[in-house]
Amino acid sequence: MIDFHSHLDLYPDPHAVAEECNARGIYVLSVTTTPSAWIGTSDLAVPGSRVRTALGLHPQLAHQRKSELTIFDSLLPNAMYVGEIGLDGAPDFKPYWNDQIAVFDHVLSACSQAGGRIMTIHSRRATSAVLERLGAFPSAGTPILHWFSGSKRDLDRAIALGCWFSVGPAMLAAEKSRTLVCYMPRNRILTETDGPFAQIEGRSAMPWDAQKATIELAALWDMSELDVDHLLNNNLRRLIGRVNSVSKAGAK
Ligand code: MN
Repeated sequence: MIDFHSHLDLYPDPHAVAEECNARGIYVLSVTTTPSAWIGTSDLAVPGSRVRTALGLHPQLAHQRKSELTIFDSLLPNAMYVGEIGLDGAPDFKPYWNDQIAVFDHVLSACSQAGGRIMTIHSRRATSAVLERLGAFPSAGTPILHWFSGSKRDLDRAIALGCWFSVGPAMLAAEKSRTLVCYMPRNRILTETDGPFAQIEGRSAMPWDAQKATIELAALWDMSELDVDHLLNNNLRRLIGRVNSVSKAGAK
């Protein structure tokens, strides 16, 4: 099982959630919202676990935490995964748009100079702007659009740019999203939960709720749950192969 976008550090008891993920053998990409959270959050990835930690600066915090870009730069050589990053065009955050663009551009430029990273990207109400910035930094790495909510036209553009997609049970509850998922290349899809922010049945999503997304995909694709698990695991292996080839090329 794969949860490729989870905020493990934001659960009330992060260690208990991480232990449960280890016991279940779940592959978790544990994303951070500020660079200063990365070292502490990395402690959740105990040796032997399948938890990996992404270095991020969430667009909703860009205006408050832009001074942490120096911390971002110092940690990037040791971080093969970057996120949560991106842009947020909702009314509460639009006033800080210039800060968001400056932070996102800085991160994409740093990732390019570092040889590319696997990036999990937030694009709420900002899909076309996110794609425009990704297009401006083609060497930044492999972008994974988490909880994609753009138009079909945006989706076509994202596919042409080489984007991957992570889809979760909360997203797949919407008919419009299920329709879009059917247009996404199956070999560029991973599951996620976006817990504890995302809600399922009135509670915070847990990493193991990612299986609910697998079940939804099986229905959409008319495949067995086991075959979908197999396909998603192959996707993950291919993606990680890219990280490893980057690290062999010189990054730690
Ligand atoms: Mn998130």
